[in-house]
Amino acid sequence: MEQRSDVGRQWLYDPCTDAGDPLGVVASVKVHNSIYASVRLLRPRECMGVSDFQFLPIHGVPGHDTRQFPGHREVFFYLKDLCDEFGIMDVVRLNTKVMCVAMASEVAGGNSSQVKWQVRSVRLDPDNGEEVAAQEEVFDAVIVANGHYSHPVAEPGTMVKGC
Ligand SMILES: Cc1cc2nc3c(=O)[nH]c(=O)nc-3n(C[C@H](O)[C@H](O)[C@H](O)COP(=O)(O)OP(=O)(O)OC[C@H]3O[C@@H](n4cnc5c(N)ncnc54)[C@H](O)[C@@H]3O)c2cc1C
Repeated sequence: MEQRSDVGRQWLYDPCTDAGDPLGVVASVKVHNSIYASVRLLRPRECMGVSDFQFLPIHGVPGHDTRQFPGHREVFFYLKDLCDEFGIMDVVRLNTKVMCVAMASEVAGGNSSQVKWQVRSVRLDPDNGEEVAAQEEVFDAVIVANGHYSHPVAEPGTMVKGC
């Protein structure tokens, strides 16, 4: 379940990130976690790929950045290719925001117990981000991968309005 309209996570660039104060000190920031336009990799591409689908430079295709520390768009392209390679889009629900994850039940089974997880999510209108439908489901396991960043990091001691 991904709340944004595409995969890529923070590497899915949203131009609104650059619309206000990049440190979020002056105006509140409405973008959850997009990188800003000028970001280039902090780490060499060799360290960022997964072992069975490496992040190799793509030569001879317009629009690709073959540098060892490419611009942010190259990571997005890589992640899209990764999704295609492993059929990940078949199991991704875009525009779906997780609102709550809670323990659903504990079923004793022999010596072990099985914990289930209740997940409440809402589908978001891709045009305006408004909530259009809510649902509750129960899963055997949940992996939380919501990232570290939801608003810019300002100078220590500076108040930043949340989004
Ligand atoms: C400026 C900058 C440069 C960086 N450069 C590098 C680099 O060069 N190399 C490197 O390896 N790392 C770099 N990083 C670290 C970067 O954070 C990681 O590469 C990676 O993006 C972290 O992935 P993540 O999936 O943990 O989090 P994120 O990329 O933040 O993804 C989290 C996802 O969870 C979604 N989400 C959050 N809450 C919900 C919810 N309630 N419901 C549904 N979806 C939700 C978000 O929309 C987002 O798509 C950089 C970070 C920053 C800020």
